[in-house]
Amino acid sequence: SAKRLGRNHSQRFRPALDKQDNPQLALVSDLRAALISGDQLELHFQTQHHPGTGDLVGMEALLRWRHPQDGMISPGDFIPLAERHGLMSELGSWVIEKACAQQAHWQHSGMPDVTVWINISALQLFQGDLETQLASCLERYQLKPAQIGLELTESVLLDERAGDMGPRLQALRTQGYAIAIDDFGTGYSSLGYLKRLPVDKIKLDRAFIRELPNDQVDAAIVTAVLAMAEGMGLEVVAEGVETEAQCQFLINAGCTLVQGFYFARPMPAVELEKKWAPLPLAEDVS
Ligand code: C2E
Ligand code: MG
Ligand code: MG
Ligand code: MG
Repeated sequence: SAKRLGRNHSQRFRPALDKQDNPQLALVSDLRAALISGDQLELHFQTQHHPGTGDLVGMEALLRWRHPQDGMISPGDFIPLAERHGLMSELGSWVIEKACAQQAHWQHSGMPDVTVWINISALQLFQGDLETQLASCLERYQLKPAQIGLELTESVLLDERAGDMGPRLQALRTQGYAIAIDDFGTGYSSLGYLKRLPVDKIKLDRAFIRELPNDQVDAAIVTAVLAMAEGMGLEVVAEGVETEAQCQFLINAGCTLVQGFYFARPMPAVELEKKWAPLPLAEDVS
């Protein structure tokens, strides 16, 4: 059958590799094939909101891999693999291209004009020419830099290979891209880099949100980070907001941006459009 043929075809990319022998390498090989075929990869999007009003303020692009045999594989599992096996630049490029194409489509379909945030891996920043790639996408899709945001984790910013990331980040920011520090508080948490590195936003990791409002320590950390960020002119996104009680705590603490299952799970672009694009005008039947 055609299905059978398709499978044989994909196995061309993993000669001599058997899942039983080395599942990790077989998966790397499958990922290489997925990048070539393109149709197993998808971007989902999770909305960001103002906690009090529920207003839509941004979207985060999250990569999904629908493996033909193994089903949905989490990015937490395959992104580290891609990084170790030299596939991250290509994977990252795919994400940037798709996210920009989606943003461009939304600009023409009546969706609210909010920033689409892209997760950027350390390797994309060190090895690839991120600036050129972004500029090329912006030009082809007729987008403004402010319509694209870049999320970098603390570990990226503190990676020794990064040397001084300040000038490179500053260059991106000067061009108008918004920059956020992802998973804030989970890395080495050196506050010194907040002073050196030009960023617009910090995303407070969901580890600090999970036990709100009951955990006194988490409550103190969240309150302190919000106060610090305000003093520095930085915005804070609370990640992983799942309950009304967490949301209420964050509203009271003055947090103005939230993301989490309480508001929306990551979903395919078409689902978002159903929710956020204005209804199409009824056809004129006269
Ligand atoms: P992240 O950038 O911190 O993304 C947020 C993760 O938290 C997502 O997991 C999202 O589904 C999950 N999440 C959102 N709200 C909630 C909530 O209320 N409760 C819980 N328990 N989880 C929530 P996901 O999609 O599995 O992604 C995991 C990580 O993989 C991301 O963490 C990011 O570091 C990485 N990642 C995803 N897509 C990409 C990509 O395109 N490029 C790169 N370099 N990394 C990516
Ligand atoms: Mg992120
Ligand atoms: Mg995060
Ligand atoms: Mg995370």
